[in-house]
Amino acid sequence: MKQSIGIDGPAGAGKSTIAKRIASALGIPYLDTGAMYRAVAVAAKRRGVSFTDEDALTHLVGVVDVEVRYENGAQHMLIDGEDVTGELRTEEISQGASLVSRVPAVRDRLSDLQREVAHRERVVMDGRDICTNVIPDTPYKFFVTASAEERANRRMKQLVEQGQSAHYDTILADIIRRDKQDSERAYKPLYCGDDTKKIDTTNLTIEEAVEAILSEV
Ligand code: C5P
Repeated sequence: MKQSIGIDGPAGAGKSTIAKRIASALGIPYLDTGAMYRAVAVAAKRRGVSFTDEDALTHLVGVVDVEVRYENGAQHMLIDGEDVTGELRTEEISQGASLVSRVPAVRDRLSDLQREVAHRERVVMDGRDICTNVIPDTPYKFFVTASAEERANRRMKQLVEQGQSAHYDTILADIIRRDKQDSERAYKPLYCGDDTKKIDTTNLTIEEAVEAILSEV
């Protein structure tokens, strides 16, 4: 174990922005584990496997090749050798990732891949179960959160900046549904462990949150 840094938390709390900055400040790689669940959702969609068919998903993760690759410092996801990075960030795949992540075989397969990375090198990893399941032995465990309303506001702003249409109520409802699915699933749900430092970013800037973590590592 190379004392990697784990950052968990609900959707839209700013985890990935914070994790990327920590990784760059420390000069180590960043692993977005949500992208791995999203890639499995893309694989399921392509093969016509329902996001709620546990048996078919269990079979799928046994046969499909999931690979993380870095190109010019950016993380890419490959499914059976094909780069699917461009397909990961849609609402359908967000929901799909949350659904496929409930399946124990999917979680176990991806957790093993994540542990392999952490054994090889020191990284910053963000997700939902990094501190509680993937690398529980690291001393550097953080739970980044914010109120659902604040997270919906931030997502709204992001979409507007990208020139996309956005409806606050729909965004808030999606966030609440995903929070519920992630924290109430039976196998390895999202929660903040007792030995994990909680950082509520509702009233913090990104810089302040990054500083709070860097001061600990
Ligand atoms: O972080 P992101 O929103 O990309 O994650 C997509 C979904 O993948 C989450 O809603 C969650 O259900 C799942 N996930 C997970 N465990 C992780 C990372 C993501 O269950 N470590």
